[in-house]
Amino acid sequence: MKVKIVKGDITEIEADAIVNAANSYLEHGGGVALAIVKKGGYIIQKESREYVKKYGPVPVGGVAVTSAGKLKAKYVIHAVGPRYGLEGEDKLEEAIRNSIRKAEELRLTSIALPAISTGIYGYPYEICAMKMAKVIKEEYKNLKHLNMIIIALYSEEAYRIFVEILEREL
Ligand code: ADP
Repeated sequence: MKVKIVKGDITEIEADAIVNAANSYLEHGGGVALAIVKKGGYIIQKESREYVKKYGPVPVGGVAVTSAGKLKAKYVIHAVGPRYGLEGEDKLEEAIRNSIRKAEELRLTSIALPAISTGIYGYPYEICAMKMAKVIKEEYKNLKHLNMIIIALYSEEAYRIFVEILEREL
């Protein structure tokens, strides 16, 4: 299992699935979610609405899957992270864990994750990085198909913090 930390736009990454930092209603109006729909196409928003109509809102910590439209990825795994101060860190852990487990369940070999909950939802990068390290350490032994986890950080600051924490913790 390889973990790669990259600085840049997650929509450009060639992985079987990319993870979106979504809200429960899968309305992709800002941040990484908007970037994904802008580049992947309206089909991603359309399938998201159909999902919510059929199954209801995605709980905090949960995930939902759609196709990836024009993106290089095959799937978008929409993970609902917690809002800082309102919902706990355990939910951030769950969102990361459920994303990885969903990719494995779909028999994918690679997944790219953004720093879930660290934008509009306000979590510090440090907490997200610690949770990523914890979940990867706990999950990697159970992975048969997934052999590459890419963490895509948008800002220089996020990249620096993630490299520091993951190099120490993994
Ligand atoms: P949340 O609501 O979960 O906080 P955001 O989309 O606001 O989700 O932010 C999550 C993280 O994704 C932030 O660190 C933000 O800087 C980063 N981000 C925004 N756009 C992109 C992108 N195109 N690729 C990768 N990361 C991105």
